Amino acid sequence: MRAGLFGGTFNPIHLGHLRAVRKVREGFGINKIYIIPSALPPHKESNGLADVQDRIKMIHLAVSDYPAFMKSVVVSDVELKRSGPSYTIDTVRHFKSILPEDTILYLIIGIDAFLEIDTWKSYMDLFMLIPFIVMTRPCGEYNYGSANKKIVGDYLKSRISVGYSFSFSHSCYVHDEKKPVFIFDVTPMNISSTKIRRLVKQGRTIKSLVPEKVESFINVRGLYL
Ligand code: ATP
Repeated sequence: MRAGLFGGTFNPIHLGHLRAVRKVREGFGINKIYIIPSALPPHKESNGLADVQDRIKMIHLAVSDYPAFMKSVVVSDVELKRSGPSYTIDTVRHFKSILPEDTILYLIIGIDAFLEIDTWKSYMDLFMLIPFIVMTRPCGEYNYGSANKKIVGDYLKSRISVGYSFSFSHSCYVHDEKKPVFIFDVTPMNISSTKIRRLVKQGRTIKSLVPEKVESFINVRGLYL
Protein backbone atom coordinates (compact mmCIF):
# COMPACT_ATOMS: atom_id res chain seq x y z
CA MET A 1 0.00 0.00 0.00
CA ARG A 2 1.07 3.56 -0.67
CA ALA A 3 0.12 6.31 1.75
CA GLY A 4 0.76 10.04 1.85
CA LEU A 5 0.92 12.46 4.77
CA PHE A 6 -0.29 15.95 3.94
CA GLY A 7 0.06 18.32 6.87
CA GLY A 8 -0.68 22.01 7.14
CA THR A 9 -2.55 24.70 8.95
CA PHE A 10 -5.58 24.53 6.65
CA ASN A 11 -6.76 27.93 7.84
CA PRO A 12 -8.95 27.35 5.87
CA ILE A 13 -8.63 24.37 3.50
CA HIS A 14 -9.05 25.52 -0.11
CA LEU A 15 -9.34 24.24 -3.68
CA GLY A 16 -5.56 24.44 -4.14
CA HIS A 17 -5.12 21.88 -1.35
CA LEU A 18 -7.86 19.64 -2.73
CA ARG A 19 -6.56 19.68 -6.26
CA ALA A 20 -3.07 18.91 -5.00
CA VAL A 21 -4.37 15.92 -3.04
CA ARG A 22 -6.24 14.62 -6.09
CA LYS A 23 -3.35 15.02 -8.47
CA VAL A 24 -0.70 13.55 -6.16
CA ARG A 25 -2.96 10.61 -5.39
CA GLU A 26 -3.40 9.89 -9.10
CA GLY A 27 0.21 10.64 -10.03
CA PHE A 28 1.76 8.38 -7.40
CA GLY A 29 -0.95 5.74 -7.18
CA ILE A 30 -1.46 6.52 -3.50
CA ASN A 31 -4.19 4.50 -1.80
CA LYS A 32 -4.62 6.70 1.26
CA ILE A 33 -3.83 10.32 1.92
CA TYR A 34 -3.94 11.53 5.50
CA ILE A 35 -4.79 15.23 5.82
CA ILE A 36 -3.27 16.34 9.09
CA PRO A 37 -4.13 19.79 10.45
CA SER A 38 -1.62 21.13 12.95
CA ALA A 39 -3.03 22.16 16.30
CA LEU A 40 -0.27 24.63 17.01
CA PRO A 41 1.81 25.30 13.89
CA PRO A 42 5.39 26.11 14.95
CA HIS A 43 6.03 28.19 11.82
CA LYS A 44 2.98 30.37 11.58
CA GLU A 45 1.57 33.21 13.61
CA SER A 46 -1.33 32.15 15.79
CA ASN A 47 -2.89 35.54 15.09
CA GLY A 48 -5.90 34.95 12.81
CA LEU A 49 -5.72 31.19 13.31
CA ALA A 50 -9.20 29.70 13.46
CA ASP A 51 -9.92 27.23 16.23
CA VAL A 52 -8.59 23.82 15.32
CA GLN A 53 -12.05 22.25 15.65
CA ASP A 54 -13.37 24.71 13.05
CA ARG A 55 -10.44 23.98 10.75
CA ILE A 56 -11.06 20.24 11.09
CA LYS A 57 -14.75 20.68 10.44
CA MET A 58 -13.99 22.60 7.24
CA ILE A 59 -11.67 19.81 6.07
CA HIS A 60 -14.45 17.26 6.65
CA LEU A 61 -16.91 19.44 4.75
CA ALA A 62 -14.49 19.89 1.86
CA VAL A 63 -13.66 16.19 1.62
CA SER A 64 -17.31 15.18 1.78
CA ASP A 65 -17.92 17.05 -1.47
CA TYR A 66 -15.70 14.65 -3.41
CA PRO A 67 -17.01 11.08 -3.72
CA ALA A 68 -13.55 9.98 -4.90
CA PHE A 69 -12.12 11.03 -1.53
CA MET A 70 -14.49 8.88 0.52
CA LYS A 71 -12.19 5.87 0.56
CA SER A 72 -8.86 7.48 -0.18
CA VAL A 73 -8.68 10.46 2.16
CA VAL A 74 -8.56 10.36 5.94
CA VAL A 75 -8.69 13.45 8.13
CA SER A 76 -6.30 12.77 10.99
CA ASP A 77 -6.50 14.37 14.41
CA VAL A 78 -3.16 12.98 15.55
CA GLU A 79 -1.58 16.42 16.01
CA LEU A 80 -4.51 17.53 18.15
CA LYS A 81 -3.85 14.78 20.60
CA ARG A 82 -0.31 15.90 21.30
CA SER A 83 0.39 18.86 23.54
CA GLY A 84 2.72 21.66 22.46
CA PRO A 85 3.73 22.61 18.91
CA SER A 86 2.87 20.18 16.12
CA TYR A 87 6.16 18.84 14.79
CA THR A 88 6.16 16.86 11.54
CA ILE A 89 8.90 14.55 12.75
CA ASP A 90 6.63 13.29 15.55
CA THR A 91 3.77 12.81 13.10
CA VAL A 92 5.93 10.86 10.65
CA ARG A 93 7.22 8.63 13.46
CA HIS A 94 3.65 8.07 14.61
CA PHE A 95 2.44 6.94 11.19
CA LYS A 96 5.50 4.78 10.62
CA SER A 97 4.74 3.03 13.89
CA ILE A 98 1.06 2.35 13.17
CA LEU A 99 0.99 1.54 9.44
CA PRO A 100 1.92 -1.93 8.14
CA GLU A 101 5.65 -2.26 7.64
CA ASP A 102 5.42 -2.67 3.87
CA THR A 103 3.55 0.64 3.44
CA ILE A 104 5.32 3.05 1.13
CA LEU A 105 4.85 6.33 2.91
CA TYR A 106 5.39 9.79 1.39
CA LEU A 107 5.46 13.25 2.91
CA ILE A 108 3.51 15.59 0.64
CA ILE A 109 4.52 19.21 0.87
CA GLY A 110 4.31 22.43 -1.15
CA ILE A 111 7.54 23.88 -2.47
CA ASP A 112 7.19 27.01 -0.31
CA ALA A 113 7.10 24.91 2.85
CA PHE A 114 9.82 22.56 1.61
CA LEU A 115 12.28 25.40 1.05
CA GLU A 116 12.05 26.27 4.74
CA ILE A 117 12.47 22.77 5.99
CA ASP A 118 15.90 23.43 7.44
CA THR A 119 14.11 25.44 10.15
CA TRP A 120 12.02 22.43 11.20
CA LYS A 121 12.68 20.31 14.27
CA SER A 122 14.95 17.31 13.51
CA TYR A 123 14.68 17.98 9.78
CA MET A 124 17.74 15.86 8.96
CA ASP A 125 15.98 12.87 10.51
CA LEU A 126 13.03 13.44 8.20
CA PHE A 127 15.29 12.86 5.20
CA MET A 128 16.36 9.53 6.70
CA LEU A 129 12.78 8.47 7.36
CA ILE A 130 10.47 9.36 4.51
CA PRO A 131 10.49 10.21 0.79
CA PHE A 132 9.14 13.64 -0.10
CA ILE A 133 6.74 14.68 -2.80
CA VAL A 134 7.35 18.38 -3.33
CA MET A 135 4.47 20.06 -5.13
CA THR A 136 5.10 23.16 -7.12
CA ARG A 137 2.73 26.07 -6.65
CA PRO A 138 2.70 29.61 -7.89
CA CYS A 139 4.26 31.80 -5.32
CA GLY A 140 6.93 34.41 -5.92
CA GLU A 141 9.99 33.07 -7.63
CA TYR A 142 8.87 29.41 -7.65
CA ASN A 143 6.56 30.01 -10.53
CA TYR A 144 8.69 28.80 -13.39
CA GLY A 145 7.88 25.18 -14.25
CA SER A 146 11.13 23.25 -14.73
CA ALA A 147 13.09 25.88 -12.81
CA ASN A 148 11.54 24.32 -9.72
CA LYS A 149 13.66 21.25 -10.24
CA LYS A 150 16.81 23.35 -10.06
CA ILE A 151 15.57 25.34 -7.07
CA VAL A 152 14.85 22.15 -5.14
CA GLY A 153 18.14 20.57 -6.26
CA ASP A 154 20.19 23.60 -5.22
CA TYR A 155 18.42 23.68 -1.88
CA LEU A 156 18.96 19.97 -1.24
CA LYS A 157 22.66 20.16 -2.08
CA SER A 158 23.37 23.32 -0.11
CA ARG A 159 21.19 22.75 2.99
CA ILE A 160 20.65 19.01 3.28
CA SER A 161 23.46 17.05 1.63
CA VAL A 162 25.76 17.44 -1.36
CA GLY A 163 25.10 13.75 -1.98
CA TYR A 164 21.72 14.43 -3.57
CA SER A 165 21.67 14.16 -7.37
CA PHE A 166 18.89 14.01 -9.93
CA SER A 167 18.11 10.57 -11.30
CA PHE A 168 16.40 10.72 -14.67
CA SER A 169 15.47 7.05 -14.50
CA HIS A 170 13.66 7.57 -11.19
CA SER A 171 12.53 11.16 -11.91
CA CYS A 172 13.58 12.34 -8.49
CA TYR A 173 16.57 13.44 -6.43
CA VAL A 174 18.30 10.42 -4.96
CA HIS A 175 20.91 9.91 -2.27
CA ASP A 176 22.91 6.88 -1.11
CA GLU A 177 21.71 7.09 2.49
CA LYS A 178 18.75 9.44 2.48
CA LYS A 179 15.26 9.10 1.08
CA PRO A 180 14.38 10.37 -2.40
CA VAL A 181 12.75 13.71 -3.12
CA PHE A 182 10.21 13.81 -5.94
CA ILE A 183 9.07 17.02 -7.59
CA PHE A 184 5.52 17.03 -8.76
CA ASP A 185 4.08 19.70 -10.98
CA VAL A 186 0.54 20.33 -9.87
CA THR A 187 -1.06 22.67 -12.38
CA PRO A 188 -0.72 25.95 -10.56
CA MET A 189 -3.72 27.29 -8.70
CA ASN A 190 -2.95 30.64 -7.26
CA ILE A 191 -4.87 30.14 -4.05
CA SER A 192 -3.63 30.46 -0.51
CA SER A 193 -5.36 30.53 2.85
CA THR A 194 -3.85 33.98 3.39
CA LYS A 195 -5.63 35.24 0.28
CA ILE A 196 -8.93 33.76 1.47
CA ARG A 197 -8.65 35.31 4.94
CA ARG A 198 -7.85 38.68 3.35
CA LEU A 199 -10.86 38.52 1.00
CA VAL A 200 -13.21 37.58 3.85
CA LYS A 201 -11.92 40.49 5.91
CA GLN A 202 -12.57 42.81 2.98
CA GLY A 203 -16.11 41.44 2.62
CA ARG A 204 -15.34 40.02 -0.81
CA THR A 205 -16.39 36.66 -2.25
CA ILE A 206 -14.31 33.49 -1.87
CA LYS A 207 -16.64 31.44 -4.07
CA SER A 208 -14.12 30.15 -6.58
CA LEU A 209 -11.49 29.44 -3.93
CA VAL A 210 -13.15 27.04 -1.47
CA PRO A 211 -15.91 24.41 -1.72
CA GLU A 212 -19.39 25.84 -1.22
CA LYS A 213 -19.91 24.13 2.13
CA VAL A 214 -16.68 25.64 3.45
CA GLU A 215 -17.73 29.08 2.29
CA SER A 216 -21.07 28.73 4.10
CA PHE A 217 -19.34 27.50 7.26
CA ILE A 218 -16.99 30.50 7.26
CA ASN A 219 -19.95 32.84 6.83
CA VAL A 220 -22.14 31.20 9.45
CA ARG A 221 -19.34 31.00 12.04
CA GLY A 222 -18.13 34.50 11.18
CA LEU A 223 -14.55 33.33 10.75
CA TYR A 224 -11.72 35.60 9.57
CA LEU A 225 -13.68 38.84 9.99
P1 ATP B 1 -1.22 30.30 4.36
O1 ATP B 1 -1.58 31.18 3.20
O2 ATP B 1 -2.00 30.57 5.61
O3 ATP B 1 0.27 30.26 4.61
P2 ATP B 1 -1.47 27.91 2.70
O4 ATP B 1 -2.46 28.23 1.67
O5 ATP B 1 -0.01 27.90 2.30
O6 ATP B 1 -1.67 28.81 4.00
P3 ATP B 1 -1.16 25.58 4.39
O7 ATP B 1 -2.23 25.01 5.24
O8 ATP B 1 -0.05 26.25 5.05
O9 ATP B 1 -1.88 26.52 3.29
O10 ATP B 1 -0.64 24.47 3.40
C1 ATP B 1 -0.50 23.11 3.68
C2 ATP B 1 0.32 22.49 2.56
O11 ATP B 1 -0.34 22.69 1.31
C3 ATP B 1 1.72 23.16 2.40
O12 ATP B 1 2.64 22.13 2.11
C4 ATP B 1 1.51 24.09 1.21
O13 ATP B 1 2.70 24.33 0.53
C5 ATP B 1 0.52 23.31 0.36
N1 ATP B 1 -0.32 24.17 -0.49
C6 ATP B 1 -1.06 25.21 -0.09
N2 ATP B 1 -1.70 25.80 -1.13
C7 ATP B 1 -1.34 25.09 -2.24
C8 ATP B 1 -1.66 25.22 -3.65
N3 ATP B 1 -2.45 26.18 -4.14
N4 ATP B 1 -1.11 24.31 -4.50
C9 ATP B 1 -0.27 23.34 -4.02
N5 ATP B 1 0.07 23.20 -2.71
C10 ATP B 1 -0.45 24.05 -1.83
